[in-house]
Amino acid sequence: MINENELKRIREYAELNNIPIMTDGGITYLTHYIKTHSIKNILEVGTAIGYSAIMMCSVGSDITVTTIERDEKRYLEALKNIKAMHLEDRIHLIYKDALDVKLDDKFDLIFIDAAKAQNQKFFLKFEGYLNDHGTIITDNMKFHGLVDKNPEEIESKNLRQLVRKVKDYKEFLIKNDDYQTDFLDVGDGLAVSVKY
Ligand code: SAM
Repeated sequence: MINENELKRIREYAELNNIPIMTDGGITYLTHYIKTHSIKNILEVGTAIGYSAIMMCSVGSDITVTTIERDEKRYLEALKNIKAMHLEDRIHLIYKDALDVKLDDKFDLIFIDAAKAQNQKFFLKFEGYLNDHGTIITDNMKFHGLVDKNPEEIESKNLRQLVRKVKDYKEFLIKNDDYQTDFLDVGDGLAVSVKY
């Protein structure tokens, strides 16, 4: 059983410290997907403070999550939260830049929720760790509504470049014949890519 008080505290900490965590809509979709597709082992790129890892893990007692975070403060907070939930046996937390990580396992689901400009790199690096007919889910495909905006309306050059990268990643997924990708209007936009 998930400890609702702890969960509330984690959400409040995230809000207070401006830590982006998945929206309720996104989490509801993700946990439902895990349940209905009998997902057992999950790789997450981008732990933040462990909220989504804890939520995914709580779908069933036979689910394990490996999750990667490069920010020390967030990593330490995630460790604390995972312990408070007594999930340290089932959530394996790695403190490293995801692009430098080497793994031994394969996964039914890979959830990409880290630096948006690097989505394609993450996809290409980690798809080798995906089980046959596994799924890669990427968050923030709408990038807070900016993807659907006219680029001229976005003042910051950096932000325009980031939005361009998210659009390029979308094109990459559409053209990738090894996967069937659906783009869902859930939370901040999810891409659900199922390997043929
Ligand atoms: N999945 C989390 C949740 O919903 O609870 C939120 C993750 S937050 C949106 C993105 C996290 O990815 C940040 O904490 C950031 O430090 C981390 N991150 C970004 N690029 C990364 C990289 N290359 N390697 C590891 N972590 C990364």
